Amino acid sequence: MAETITPRTIRLEASSFCQLRCPSCPTTARAIHPAVGSGFLRLEDFRRLLDENPSLALIELSNYGEIFLNPQLLQILELAHERKVVLAARNGVNLNNVRDEVLEGLVKFKLQQMNCSIDGASQETYKIYRVRGNFENVIANIKRINHFKQLYRSEFPRLRWQFIVFGHNEHELTRARRMAQELGMDFYAKLSWDDDFSPISDKEAVRRETKTGAATRAEFKERHGRDYMQRICHQLWDMPQVNWDGKVLGCCRNFWGDFGGNAFADGLIPSLNTEKITYARKMLRGQAAARHDIPCTTCEIYLDMRANDRWLEREDFAGGQIFPSERTREAAFDSGARGLPRGFAAASVAAGSSDAGSRAEVRRNDACPCGSGKRYKHCHGRFG
Ligand code: SF4
Repeated sequence: MAETITPRTIRLEASSFCQLRCPSCPTTARAIHPAVGSGFLRLEDFRRLLDENPSLALIELSNYGEIFLNPQLLQILELAHERKVVLAARNGVNLNNVRDEVLEGLVKFKLQQMNCSIDGASQETYKIYRVRGNFENVIANIKRINHFKQLYRSEFPRLRWQFIVFGHNEHELTRARRMAQELGMDFYAKLSWDDDFSPISDKEAVRRETKTGAATRAEFKERHGRDYMQRICHQLWDMPQVNWDGKVLGCCRNFWGDFGGNAFADGLIPSLNTEKITYARKMLRGQAAARHDIPCTTCEIYLDMRANDRWLEREDFAGGQIFPSERTREAAFDSGARGLPRGFAAASVAAGSSDAGSRAEVRRNDACPCGSGKRYKHCHGRFG
C-alpha cells in the first residue's frame, strides 16, 4: 500500500523575490525560474490553506526570496498567530528593508525563529557577497527587533546570525561572533556551496568555526561520507516545500521541476501524495529506478547517493507524522542539528537495495545528466 504523508509541518515560500544580488545565488542567476518563478504568497491562499488543514502546526516561510518583500507579510503573521500556527524563517532573511510595523509584528505575533544571513562584520566585507546590501540597516533592524522584544517581554523571534564563510570574510568571523553575542543572537558559521567564489585560505580556522571538522563541502563529504546538505531530502516526508503559488516542490533545494500537485488548487494532502512525489520517496530510499520526470533525478544529492549506493533510511517513519504531540509546536525548531527535525539521525543513510540504474558517479566537470549540454558544475550541480 502506498504511504500517505500527512505532515503537520510544511515549508511555504512567502516571497521568491529578492532585492540583493548575491553572486552564487540561483535567485540572482534567475535559475529558479523554471519551477519557482517570481511571486508572493497571497493572504487569501494562506487563509484557505489554514482553513482546510487545521492540523498544520508549523510553517517555514523563507527559501529562495526575501520574505520581507511580501506586502502581506504582516497580515500573514497575524493570521497564523490567531490560528496558533507557528511560523519561522530559518532558511534565512537578509533583513535589509523592513517596515517598522513588520519588525514589531515579528515580536507581537511571535515568529518562532529567524536566521539572518550576515556574511561579515563590516559594510566593506558584507557587501562583497551581499551585493546591494547594507550592513548598518541589518544591524539597526536587529536592534529594533530587540527593542520590541523588551517591550513585549518576549523571547520571540529567536535570532541567529548565519555567516557563510568565504576567503574575503574569514578574518571577521571572530568579530561577527562577538557582535552576535552582544545582540543576543546565536551564531552559525556555514560552509559555502561555491568553491569557485572567494575560496577560503585559513582552513584550520574554518574547520574549527563551523564545528564540522571540514573546511569545504567536498572535505565534509570525504570526512563524513555524506553530502553536507543531505538532510534536505527528509523534507519530502517531514516538511515538504510548497511554492508561493501552491506548486509542490518537495524540498527547499529543488527549483528545476515540480511534483505535479498544487496545494491551493488540489488540497494540501492530495498534492503531497501524487504519484510523482511518492515515486521520488521510493527513489531516495533506493527502492525505485531514477526516472526522467522526477526532479531528484538530476540533483547532486541524489546522484551522490546513487553513486555510493547509500540511501535515505526512514526507520522512524510513521505515516508522515514526526511531530506527534502538541508539545512539539514550540520544540519543533529547537533541534540541536540545524534544520533537522527531531527523531532523525543526521547521517541517516544505510546500504539499501537498489534498482536505480547506473552507479556511475557524476563528477563536477562531467556533462550534466539533464541533457543541457553544459558541464554538471555549471548546471544542476551549480547551487547548493
Ligand atoms: S535528491 Fe535533491 S531534489 Fe530530491 S529531495 Fe533530495 S535535495 Fe531535494
